[in-house]
Amino acid sequence: MQYLPKAVQRLINQFDKLPGIGPKTSEKLVFHLLGRPKEDLQEFADSLMQAREDIITCPLCFNYADTTPCSICGDKDRVKDKICIVAETQDVQAIEKLRSFDGVFHVLHGVINPPEGLTPDKLKIKELQNRIIKHKPKEIILALNHDIHGETTSLYLAKLLKGANIKVTRLAKGLPSGSEIEYADDITLSYAFKDRKEL
Ligand SMILES: [Zn+2]
Repeated sequence: MQYLPKAVQRLINQFDKLPGIGPKTSEKLVFHLLGRPKEDLQEFADSLMQAREDIITCPLCFNYADTTPCSICGDKDRVKDKICIVAETQDVQAIEKLRSFDGVFHVLHGVINPPEGLTPDKLKIKELQNRIIKHKPKEIILALNHDIHGETTSLYLAKLLKGANIKVTRLAKGLPSGSEIEYADDITLSYAFKDRKEL
């Protein structure tokens, strides 16, 4: 790929850093973008920067938001004593699409994975503990992936919450082992949610 102009290669490298995009797709996207009118690219760059400037994290649930608190935490019809714990913001979207969960969320921003530097203190776990002390929820739903890191995190949290007089449930294993909540189809996820098991 050395025959490419430096600026093009630089852009390809940027796309290559994105999750789920390999070098081939990076190249395809870059050449597609370069073929677009300048105004389109300006709009693309502006929306990217604008999103970065405008987006904040909700101080209650740590989901991305543009209001404080976010629209879910601020919704008076949502049940505040039922908190669904997810690893990432994308998982909130996946569960919200089902339109069946009436509680609120807590985004950990990762799962426990020490080799990757993700120790419990790097996640929003202390914040969760503070939230529990302050708001005394009745149910905590662990909606973490059924893979090794999701399991580790669920067990860690279940242990932490033991004795706190809170019902702790976990999504049913309707999800294929190792599959991700973000990519689960709606029916499977709905089923996993309804059939959640108490830990
Ligand atoms: Zn929120």
